[in-house]
Amino acid sequence: MNQAVLSKLKAIVGENHILTEFEDRYCYSFDSTFINSMPDLVIQPGSRDEIAAICRIAYANDIPVVTRGAATGLSGGAVPVKGGIVIETTRLNKVLEVNTSNFYAIVEPGTITQDYLAAVDKAGLFYPPDPASSKMSTIGGNIAECAGGPHGVKYGITRDYVLGLEVVLPDGSIVQTGNLIDGDMSGPDWTMLYCGSEGTLGVITKIMLKLTHKPQAKQTMMATFSAIEDAATTVSTMMASGVIPTTLEIMDNMTIRAVENFLNIGLPIEAGAILLIEVDGDPQAVEKHVQHVLKVCNDCNASSVKVAKTAQEADGLWKARRSVSPACGKLNPTKISEDATVPRSRIPEMVSAVQAIAKKYNLKMVIFGHAGDGNLHPNILSNKHDKEEMARVEKAVEELFQVALKLGGTLSGEHGIGYLKAPFLVWETGEEGFKFGKDVKQAVDPKSLMNPGKMFDYHDDKAV
Ligand SMILES: Cc1cc2nc3c(=O)[nH]c(=O)nc-3n(C[C@H](O)[C@H](O)[C@H](O)COP(=O)(O)OP(=O)(O)OC[C@H]3O[C@@H](n4cnc5c(N)ncnc54)[C@H](O)[C@@H]3O)c2cc1C
Repeated sequence: MNQAVLSKLKAIVGENHILTEFEDRYCYSFDSTFINSMPDLVIQPGSRDEIAAICRIAYANDIPVVTRGAATGLSGGAVPVKGGIVIETTRLNKVLEVNTSNFYAIVEPGTITQDYLAAVDKAGLFYPPDPASSKMSTIGGNIAECAGGPHGVKYGITRDYVLGLEVVLPDGSIVQTGNLIDGDMSGPDWTMLYCGSEGTLGVITKIMLKLTHKPQAKQTMMATFSAIEDAATTVSTMMASGVIPTTLEIMDNMTIRAVENFLNIGLPIEAGAILLIEVDGDPQAVEKHVQHVLKVCNDCNASSVKVAKTAQEADGLWKARRSVSPACGKLNPTKISEDATVPRSRIPEMVSAVQAIAKKYNLKMVIFGHAGDGNLHPNILSNKHDKEEMARVEKAVEELFQVALKLGGTLSGEHGIGYLKAPFLVWETGEEGFKFGKDVKQAVDPKSLMNPGKMFDYHDDKAV
């Protein structure tokens, strides 16, 4: 990087917050996918104004800027595929306010999701979006990816809780969207433009979030099925039956075995699938809903349904769910995590299609995820150094996307488009929709410097 530019950047954040050594930069060349690409420089700013000053310099010198939270992203969003500056937000890590009278919180983007959830819980309130990565991910990353999570089935996902944002635009100017009362502002909903924008339209520097009441009671259950098809039918039947569980998560046989191997907690390793189901609300409603869940599961051929007797037992079941990714990650060197999502009623068809695709391409594929949302996570367990296998993986992924779209679904329920799904985005948007996305990007970021090469800025030039 040009020495004059480097000196200016050092003057903004101080020498200690700029990483230029190869070893340091290498650590910022990847996220939680299998791709990597080196940044020229990593900067760890400590304030919004520092971020704005960095963006002004980058803009004047045509340098790409990639914002990075905790790099738990699963679509290559934080990978600097065109080099440039990585702005790491983790020094902006404060929960600035939890307002218990007006039910909102104001948070800095680099706050770890779990720290934020704990602050809200301590104040006696509830913020439902709960990505399984919450112990690592940042709130800024959650907004930028519009993260979902197990609670999504009843409470909705990140976008349902964002009241407003402060954003540094590509040229360094600063805008605020929304407001603390109800999120509304005159004109189009710019807050939603940024929710799921994956760092391609600016750097989110402050976040205003809606809070709600904590449920008075909850109950966790684990339903075991000999056949995954029955578990899939249970999901669509349950959702149509009038009781919406708080969570409805699925794990197939290979996932159950991987987690049991990892945690050794007595999961039913012979089962075709399990469903983790939670209901919440006032105590009487919870009791009624438990009975309802038991009936639906039994009607759909569950071989057993275990109701957690204690909070520790429930925690154990959720620990099993949270351990799915690391447990499956141990099975093969490369884990490719997809999240193509279909309408809930089409889950049984999607499960059959995933199984057929795995068989057709002779690939090891596990199924788990937020089934109640229609958001299955078919994960392909492979080895990125095996070229022949990776060619089959590519074909299988394309076919997964085609099936999901044919069933009325989407390429991504929550992991975003990033770099890896960018070539396929046009299948979902259509040519005109894709052009509209490109035009919006061009209007906000005319030099294409914010997270270039991602989403609508994709060009067919495989960089990694
Ligand atoms: C084990 C595991 C489990 C997961 N479970 C879930 C799940 O249940 N639900 C779910 O939705 N996702 C899940 N994910 C994916 C991932 O955790 C989420 O996408 C998360 O929101 C990313 O947060 P991050 O801080 O790691 O962002 P990063 O990976 O650092 O960045 C993701 C994208 O957001 C952009 N970005 C980050 N911060 C900002 C900012 N301040 N301003 C503008 N752009 C920004 C980046 O440029 C990038 O494009 C999981 C991942 C793993 C590894």
